[in-house]
Amino acid sequence: MSKIQRAGASRRDSRDVDDTVTIGRRNNSEDRSWQGQKYEKHVLKEKLPSNDLEADYLDNGWGDPESGEDYRDIKDGYDPVVVIDNGLEQVGVHRRYCRMTENTILDNSGDTLINNNNNELKVMRKSTEQPVPRLPMTPKRAKGGAASSKKPMPTVHRVLLYSTQSPRLGRKQQFSTQRLSAKQQSAKALGAGDEGQTVILLEPEHKQEDHRSAIDFDRNDDFDEDDDLDNLSNFDESDTASVLSDTEDGYRAHAYKLTHSVDRFLSPQSTPSFLSSQSSEDDLKNPDSLLVPSLFPYVPPYLSFSSNTKRGPRVPPDLHRVLKWRITNIMPKVVRLILANSGMRMLKKTNDWMGVWGKHLKSPCFKAIRSYQKINHLPGSFRIGRKDSCWKNLQRQMGKHSNKEFGFMPRTYIIPNDLGALRRHWPKYAQRNTKWIIKPPASARGAGIRVINRWGQIPKRRPLIVQKYIERPLLINGSKFDLRLYVLVTSVNPLRVFMYHNGLARFASVKYSAKADTLNDRCMHLTNYSINKFSSNYSKNEDVNACHGHKWTIKSLWTYLANRGVRTDCLWEALRSLVLRTILAGENGINSMIRANVESKYSCFELFGFDVILDSDLVPWLLEVNISPSLHSELPLDAHVKAPLVQGVLNTALYNVPPKLSLDKQKELAAEFSFPPGTQMCYDKRLYINYLSREEKIKHNTFTRKSMEDRNEYVNAILNNLTPDDVRCLIIAEDELARCAPLERIFPTDQTHKYLKYNDTPRYYNRLLDAWESRYANNRTEGIALLRDYCQNKYHLQVPTPPAKKYIEGDHTAYSLHLCPEQDFLSTSGLLHQVYEMDFKVTVAAIVLLVVIIVIISAITLVLITHVYI
Ligand code: ADP
Repeated sequence: MSKIQRAGASRRDSRDVDDTVTIGRRNNSEDRSWQGQKYEKHVLKEKLPSNDLEADYLDNGWGDPESGEDYRDIKDGYDPVVVIDNGLEQVGVHRRYCRMTENTILDNSGDTLINNNNNELKVMRKSTEQPVPRLPMTPKRAKGGAASSKKPMPTVHRVLLYSTQSPRLGRKQQFSTQRLSAKQQSAKALGAGDEGQTVILLEPEHKQEDHRSAIDFDRNDDFDEDDDLDNLSNFDESDTASVLSDTEDGYRAHAYKLTHSVDRFLSPQSTPSFLSSQSSEDDLKNPDSLLVPSLFPYVPPYLSFSSNTKRGPRVPPDLHRVLKWRITNIMPKVVRLILANSGMRMLKKTNDWMGVWGKHLKSPCFKAIRSYQKINHLPGSFRIGRKDSCWKNLQRQMGKHSNKEFGFMPRTYIIPNDLGALRRHWPKYAQRNTKWIIKPPASARGAGIRVINRWGQIPKRRPLIVQKYIERPLLINGSKFDLRLYVLVTSVNPLRVFMYHNGLARFASVKYSAKADTLNDRCMHLTNYSINKFSSNYSKNEDVNACHGHKWTIKSLWTYLANRGVRTDCLWEALRSLVLRTILAGENGINSMIRANVESKYSCFELFGFDVILDSDLVPWLLEVNISPSLHSELPLDAHVKAPLVQGVLNTALYNVPPKLSLDKQKELAAEFSFPPGTQMCYDKRLYINYLSREEKIKHNTFTRKSMEDRNEYVNAILNNLTPDDVRCLIIAEDELARCAPLERIFPTDQTHKYLKYNDTPRYYNRLLDAWESRYANNRTEGIALLRDYCQNKYHLQVPTPPAKKYIEGDHTAYSLHLCPEQDFLSTSGLLHQVYEMDFKVTVAAIVLLVVIIVIISAITLVLITHVYI
């Protein structure tokens, strides 16, 4: 029998075979002696995908779902021809497709394929002793290569190979180095002395081409109908080559290394904080007192928020009177409950609010916020919060730095601007049968989203984004899922970022298939709850710790993955890095908007929802960033995740009592809360000013000058003579850090200086905090003691007189901002109202205008008619 058969036959064979297939010498799935090899291969069991669509399933937003065949064809060139050999005589030739597009089913069944140093592979049958399969993971040291006595399983499982160097390139190179003749390979296999059958990877170049064209032919039946493409002119190969070399490839290899890193394993810092942190029950504990002191003297205390379920400590009536929150229509219930339990007054109409949790404002409206008021948004956060601007910013960073560092969003085209480029590149993409997902640039909940694979399906005039579809998502129980991560930014200059240790994994309710005829099935390809909840398949997860149903907590997911050998610490590190790079990509734009529109450093923060998908190589891909992530908590699982999140966010954001209490009242309050006499109980404007003294400006300029590129030049020197402004900056950072549980501060840390190069211009405060962290991160008590000494002398309260023109610190250039003097007297609530009602007013005005025009036209017509007839 011929050793190499055509793809079609191979496909059938690979499904039909159910003998034990042993590849190469080794047959112990724990044997990891290939670790030292240049191109290490990992092995993953994979079951043939099943499409268990319910027969009566009717949710077909874009067409009827059809159950597909088990087998999907192959599109890229890393598919080895596999020769099955029984050691003496070849019993069959099979092409086993080892590509990642196949569904990675994470269940307890499947074979394992192992590569040894001779590039020989062995398929291990599932062992009943192994309770869970291992996911793509870093191989551990070999413990020996004992021969397997495991019995063959009755079903055939597909096999995935991994290269720790780069999932794609590794495979490419691996197969190119394995272009040995079938004879050589057989000889090797025979020499190996295995009793079972041997599978050898062969990938002769011409065969690969043949195979590819056969597949293209098979798979492109839709593509033939694609009329527009035949007419494409100006097709520039070189141009396309660079695009198609995949902006993502550099990142993919980089992230793969990160998520499979061995080095990190032993570092105590690498343990994801949430795995070692307190239980979620602790997160929900109420504080002992509504007001908690700052770590530092002469800094007002902060409000400590209670849980959504239990009423917090008693609030004295005088204090309660001034704790006014403005209710908005979109304030989530969980926020309202937490505020109410914390003793806040919830008012619909007030200008005097201390906090608001509402919709995003137009940037100029931030000018009207009073210095003691705090709002849950940052001006300009749409720079990463809109899909199109996020891509633009990441693309800019890719140009400035590298794809490896910023290529974590799937390749995106913004229509109509990039239509020409997409059109030029399309034929090459079509050759690869690339699938795309089209999305409105600024919508949510899956509205207007479709997965497509034909040029004709792209609306050409409407603004939208066309994004490469991640065709090989990591699947659990056959279903695709994405991650919702929560990230809090309390300040942009200096940058302070916190990541919540929990989150959500949201599953599609229909099992995944990459077959083209399933693309219309939104419940298979989209993971939004708002879409899947309508599916008859959708099952709620009532148990917050359980791994079932279509929504899990990230903690449960992590436990699940860790049990299957996934390095969740590395994965978490990769996610942190993705989050920080995304924020840094938008940092410059957001910072300019803040400088232009925000008066006080106290006024704003933003809670972002990052949507990330993991592919079958465990590489995380950013799908989008939400600036108003849903905090709906009707289901217990949602409440379990979101209530501690909101509580943590409010505590980290450091709310003060508004400056509405007389000195006498403050004294009484201090006594009641057992604070030292003379403690200022209300917000102190001096701590949050935006302007600098002359000396401070000089220091800022010195440490941000262009010639200072080397970190060593500032990392010690900047801490030598701390200015009052420096101390203020450090006080807030330390107080936030002390109160941020259950969030984790991911920037700054003593490791994050590597990200500073992504700032367009060096930022003084980032350098200050970098220096601070590198000196005191592991000796925080000493750092806090130093700051306490400064505060004891009220050094931090020394402020310069406010300038007529406002100089904004942190950059080389002085920035002048002309604020209207009467602005502080503006009715802020009126302004907010104005913004919220803006859309309504525009609509009413348009209708009125239309009616007036119609009346005028009718009158003129009437006059003309009357004139003609009379
Ligand atoms: P929305 O803001 O409307 O939720 P998303 O960008 O989050 O839009 O996309 C909705 C869903 O579509 C995601 O949750 C994910 O399941 C799927 N999705 C989005 N982009 C991709 C992509 N590039 N590859 C694969 N799936 C995607």
